[in-house]
Amino acid sequence: MRKVWRLLNLIFPSRCPSCGSPTDNLRYSPFCRGCWHALSTPSKSERCHCCGISLPSDFSFRCIGCIKERPYYRRIFAFGDYEGALKTAVNLLKFEKLRRLSVPLGRLIASLPLPEVDGVVPVPLSKKRLLQRGFNQSHLLCRTVSERLRKPLMEDLLLRTREIPPQSQLPRKERLRNPKGAFSVGPSNGKRLPGRVLLIDDVMTTGATINECARVLLGAGVKEVYGAVLARTRPE
Ligand SMILES: [Zn+2]
Ligand SMILES: [Zn+2]
Repeated sequence: MRKVWRLLNLIFPSRCPSCGSPTDNLRYSPFCRGCWHALSTPSKSERCHCCGISLPSDFSFRCIGCIKERPYYRRIFAFGDYEGALKTAVNLLKFEKLRRLSVPLGRLIASLPLPEVDGVVPVPLSKKRLLQRGFNQSHLLCRTVSERLRKPLMEDLLLRTREIPPQSQLPRKERLRNPKGAFSVGPSNGKRLPGRVLLIDDVMTTGATINECARVLLGAGVKEVYGAVLARTRPE
């Protein structure tokens, strides 16, 4: 296989987007083995037992933000921090539309010590975004997580009801306020509401979006909401 790959690379040269060396495998391409290994090795940093943010020491279980105001969700599980090769991978999937990366990246989420749930739910994208991008990266990641965990993919449970500006373009204060009223729970169509769900997203920044999803789900009668993300931004 390696020989075939080397030959392919001679004809269609490709370079690792993280370190610039020639791509040396099909599975994680365009990443080289070394960079994929680096991004897929779980970080050892201590994380808040509530929102999953990196903590400076293992002195505390929760960050100041979660101590001050407990979020609606129970806990967020984050694979790594939004930096380095993991950040590059997330951006390649999302902005360069390298959809096939959603499979190995989804497996990283599924490898986390996740709680037992009744189903997995992707954080929905606004209609406008969906049309622009052509796909919802959270939905793609969620599909792999659903297969790996053998839990139903509940794609119609949570709906996007209001268009909101992209979180990344807003200052922190507005980002925290922004998602209010952006989600609703879809018609049950005779299906029973799940007791415990796991929300899936690619990146978590302030956590306002996932928290709003959790609030809406709890309001509709879901008992416990957890979240799992590929990357968590570091504290500001
Ligand atoms: Zn590399
Ligand atoms: Zn926290």
